[in-house]
Amino acid sequence: MFDLLKLRKRHGYQAIPDIRTASPVSTHTGFPVLDASKCKEDCIPCKDICPTGAIRVDPLAIDLGKCIFCGECERVCNGGAIKFSNEYKIGSTERESLIISSGTAFENFRQTAIESKREIHKLFGRSLKLRQVSAGGCNGCEMELAACSNVNFDMGRFGIDFVASPRHADGIVITGAISRNMAPALMDTYKSIGEPKIVIAAGACAISGGVFAESEELNRNIFDKIKIDLFIPGCPPHPLVFINSLLDFIGRK
Ligand code: SF4
Ligand code: SF4
Repeated sequence: MFDLLKLRKRHGYQAIPDIRTASPVSTHTGFPVLDASKCKEDCIPCKDICPTGAIRVDPLAIDLGKCIFCGECERVCNGGAIKFSNEYKIGSTERESLIISSGTAFENFRQTAIESKREIHKLFGRSLKLRQVSAGGCNGCEMELAACSNVNFDMGRFGIDFVASPRHADGIVITGAISRNMAPALMDTYKSIGEPKIVIAAGACAISGGVFAESEELNRNIFDKIKIDLFIPGCPPHPLVFINSLLDFIGRK
């Protein structure tokens, strides 16, 4: 017993003390800073190299819903028109807000990206249970979502947990590009969650199909019937991205 207590004391408090101000590693690829004035005439290597078609060059813009944050466009852009910052609070309640155009400052993006509604805060601000469905992903997103509940990120301290049954959930977190085989199971899970419920798309695959967008094996018709309430970009999203996006969404300071 005393040995256990000593061990516990030695481990100390391991959770990140303030998840709202924590920084990812300096190499983390976050919000893109675009400056079209540095683009050379007829220069399109960034568009050509992008594996997901996330880049538009005329005018210059990057769609964070498609971007897998590989950094290749920054590498091939000799003029410095594309730079990725370390800013990671890139969740959004609007799909259109994820299309970042030249000159958009991170602060301006943040002001409009997540609309925190009073009724969402009232319903889920102190407790939010989520059912996660991997609908044809590579397991990268799922691993990062599992990390959200580990001792370091400790998402449970905010009352946010993943639960095993949709019957116990307030919302669904979708990862993966939604394969044909997973589409019915995803819809069944969605229907099994009681109202009111929220829908979160985590990762480029769930938001846009990501690198699998052109595959004939996908069935994304579910989004004709259900609306996504929160988009969390990344490939996969870092736990800090996921947790901070959720906290903003449910209106937690
Ligand atoms: S970082 Fe994003 S926009 Fe740039 S090449 Fe990779 S996927 Fe495309
Ligand atoms: S978004 Fe990236 S990490 Fe997530 S399932 Fe798709 S390929 Fe894997």
